[in-house]
This record gives sequence, C-alpha cells and structure tokens, in this order.
Amino acid sequence: MRLKSVTAFGLAFLFLAGCAKHGGTGAIKIGLSLDTLKEERWQHDRDLFVAKAKELGAEVLIQAANSNDALQNSQAENLLTQGVNVLVVVPHNGKSAATIVDSAHKAGVPVIAYDRLIRDCDLDLYVTLDPTQVGVQQADYAVKHVPKGNYVLIGGAPTDNNAVLVRNGQMSVLKPYIDRGDIKIVTDQWATDWSPIEALKIMENSLTMNKNKVDAVIASNDGTAGGAIQALNAQKLAGKVLVTGQDADLAACQRIVAGTQSMTVYKPLSLLANKAAEVAVALAQKKPVPDKTSKLNNGKIDVPSILLATTQVDKANLDSTVIADNFQKKEEVYKK
Ligand code: BGC
Repeated sequence: MRLKSVTAFGLAFLFLAGCAKHGGTGAIKIGLSLDTLKEERWQHDRDLFVAKAKELGAEVLIQAANSNDALQNSQAENLLTQGVNVLVVVPHNGKSAATIVDSAHKAGVPVIAYDRLIRDCDLDLYVTLDPTQVGVQQADYAVKHVPKGNYVLIGGAPTDNNAVLVRNGQMSVLKPYIDRGDIKIVTDQWATDWSPIEALKIMENSLTMNKNKVDAVIASNDGTAGGAIQALNAQKLAGKVLVTGQDADLAACQRIVAGTQSMTVYKPLSLLANKAAEVAVALAQKKPVPDKTSKLNNGKIDVPSILLATTQVDKANLDSTVIADNFQKKEEVYKK
C-alpha cells in the first residue's frame, strides 16, 4: 500500500516534471522503427539518435524488425498505439513501408524516412547520407585505379531504394568506360538483404565463370565487400583485385589496413542522426519542415529531402577521416 502510493507519487512527479519542461504539452515521444541491427552501423545510428533526442528533451521508443516487412508494419502500428508524436523509419522494404506512412497519417503523425526512402506515399521528410553520391564515389575510385578490365557488380538489397540509388551513382561513372569497351561487366547481381553470404556466392560463381579473370569488384557496402573478399581470398586473389565498400565498418577499416579491401565510403552517422533527431522534434511540435531541402521523387510526390555528404576513404586518408572523427578507434583499426 505504502509502496504503491510512493510509486504513484513518483510517477505523478515525473509526469509533472515532463509537462513543465515542454510547456505543459508533455514529453515528445519519437517512434524509431528500424529494419535491422545486423550491420554495425545501425547500432551507432540508434545510439546517436537517442542521445541527440534526449538532449532535445524527447523520449525515443525503439523497435527493430529483423528484416521482416510484416513485423516492421506491426511494430510501427504498435508505436502509434503508444502515442508517438512522430515516426522515424528505416524501412526494410521501401515499397511496403508506404503502409506505415498511411497509418501514421491517419493518426495525425508525421513520418521521416531515415537513410532509406519510402516510395509511393505522402512521406513528410527524407534525411540521408546521399546514396547516389556513395555510388559515384565507389565507381570513381575504381576507374581511377583500374580504368580497364573485367568488373563485378554486387548490388545491395533490391527491396532497399538505397541499393538502387547507389547503383545509379555507380553506373553514371561506369557507363562511358563500358560504352568505350574499356570496362566489361562480367557479373551484375544483387545480394538479398545486403547478405555477405550471398555476396560470397556471387563472387565464387563469378570467379569460376571468368576463370579468375576479374580486375575490380564494386561491392555496394562493407558487408558485401567482406563476402566478396572471402571468395577472392580462397583463390589467393585478395589484395590483387580492387574492392569497394561503404560504411567504414571496423572490419572493413581493418581490411583496408591489411590491403584486402581497397576503399570504403565514410558516412558520418552523427550528422545524420543529429539532423534526423532535430527535424523529428520539430515535426512533432508541428513546426514546418526545414526550408533548406532538396527534392527526391518517391514515385508519388517530390519528398523534401536532406542529403548529407560522404567521403571516399582508402589507406591514405583513413587516419585523417574515420579515425580523426573518432568514428573508429585507431588501436582497433590497426590491431594485428
Ligand atoms: C545503407 C547502408 C547499409 C545497408 C545495409 C543501406 O540502406 O545506406 O549504409 O550498409 O543499407 O544495412
């Protein structure tokens, strides 16, 4: 009894404290719906986003869907039931997540797509590290170092709009080389759910089919690069074939130091997470979307979009970028 009344008093106090902080409107609740926490980056995204939201006085309710569309949709419904004021979504499937946006809008809740676009719906805002630019940077690095030869393309998840944008960026650079006949695309495939194991198999098959005559592998992220490098390693080709990546994962940075992965694209996640938390709080407070936005068509509307910049990284500038920013720790990257 006594315990109960103390708890009730405590809860009432917390509630009042929350009201005082936000001018009597109660704490802002942000729903964060993640596709997955599989790749290292998403754990950083989550932690950075929560820290910034907290600093801005908001509470974050988090769900991760383990690459399952139906689960992600029901988790989003659940967040709406819990009364979130804004939804921030990293969609597993850029198309089926449109249902989430429609449900949120029925509940009067705005939706921000985080990192990956949601297609064919009235999405409120898209915040990302420009995926087209990521593809450009990967291919640009490759053609500078290997301007002629046999290329393998390993795309990301076909269900992720980013995989398509990254590929568009890659092709915008590669096309003149292909048209001239300098570069020959010997394999062109996509890895379901960005799976490193699929990338490994794609690479094994490609090496067999091309009698190991492969000069460069445009892997769309570090996970798939890791799979491809494993296949190259089995043929004693790791370090001899150029391999690209994206994310500056710890394992990828270690491979860059070891010489088996040529480059990665560094995406400063704190910029993305901070910006997303800021705009989430603004939208939750019914403030208009920021006016400094680009427009990206999602098949239905031109979505106001914030596109942040990324950086090409190889052995030469790893220290002055990824490590200088404390994105990865020097002692871990250089650990033997
Ligand atoms: C992200 C990449 C990530 C990939 C796999 C993409 O949408 O932009 O950074 O490696 O998903 O999770």
